[in-house]
Amino acid sequence: MTRLIFLGAPGAGKGTQAQILAASCGIPHISTGDILRAQVKEQTELGIQAQAFMNKGELVPDALILDMIRVRLSQDDAIKAGWILDGFPRNVAQAEFLDRLLTEIGQNYNLAIDLGVPQDRLVARLLERAKIQNRPDDTEDVIRRRLVVYDEQTAPLLDYYQRKDVLRSVDGDRELAEVTHHLEALVN
Ligand code: ADP
Repeated sequence: MTRLIFLGAPGAGKGTQAQILAASCGIPHISTGDILRAQVKEQTELGIQAQAFMNKGELVPDALILDMIRVRLSQDDAIKAGWILDGFPRNVAQAEFLDRLLTEIGQNYNLAIDLGVPQDRLVARLLERAKIQNRPDDTEDVIRRRLVVYDEQTAPLLDYYQRKDVLRSVDGDRELAEVTHHLEALVN
């Protein structure tokens, strides 16, 4: 069963690659960013609370995220087919929660994959994306904040998974199809 954790800074292309890989493996692509944006759009209780944090480039508090993940990973498709997690975990507390949750439900992940892209390329990519998409967190100030939050809270996960010997790194600063090719080689 394929269960993968996708790591990588904002703008590294993990959403795009996770989606492609999920489709080719026939497993659900679980993106906490996508789930949150859907909740914001519907203005659910969770969406209303999460929105303010997202628009500032801050992480949404774990109290709101953890339950969301527990529910999603307990759904039929995830139980039966596996998953690619994109955007979760995003800090060490979330990674520890995930480990406990998976032990509880008798699952484990195969790999944590880091998509590496140099910082200056990330900013350029995100500003480029801002021109074609309409995400309120894609303004330059918020992009810079998201990158700082990544460095401070998410980057320590590289060490976390390295110590468990499940970390693999893929150079994300290449043509989209070439990155996909390397990811597929890693997974299959
Ligand atoms: P990106 O990786 O480009 O920043 P995402 O779509 O993964 O975009 O996330 C967008 C925003 O959603 C984040 O900046 C954060 O506010 C919120 N978010 C997504 N996943 C999490 C998470 N696991 N924990 C806390 N906040 C999250």
